[in-house]
Amino acid sequence: MDLRELYQEVILDHGKNPRNHRLLEPYNREGRGYNPLCGDRITLRLQLDGDRITDIGFQGQGCAISQASCSTMTEAIKGKTLREAEALFEQFHALVTGEGEADFDELDKLAVFAGVSEFPMRVKCATLGWHTLKHAVEGDGIEAVTE
Ligand code: ZN
Repeated sequence: MDLRELYQEVILDHGKNPRNHRLLEPYNREGRGYNPLCGDRITLRLQLDGDRITDIGFQGQGCAISQASCSTMTEAIKGKTLREAEALFEQFHALVTGEGEADFDELDKLAVFAGVSEFPMRVKCATLGWHTLKHAVEGDGIEAVTE
């Protein structure tokens, strides 16, 4: 099995069995995201304690990439501070757009989305959860639309 197949397997696994897939209760931040190009929708809820994300959950419908990306995102940022989560999004964005240099050590499991940079249409699927996270944290009630 080469790295690409391994990456694909992880994405399919998270797409089929998403982690933290629940409407979190209690929570103090909520965001909704929609990707009209693909039809992906998510609702993301988090529990913020100061600037630390102590718990997170999401529900959604859509393609395997969007759901797997949300799933891996929730695993990656649970327990992290907002600043750490933002830094991780910058790395992830560099990875999936192919713009800038991504730090694979820091990305850890999120590196499985490296192949997305070859499919520009899929970038919006992969970043939907992260954009939704931003709006949820800001508490602005704006739906994250990837267009
Ligand atoms: Zn999608």
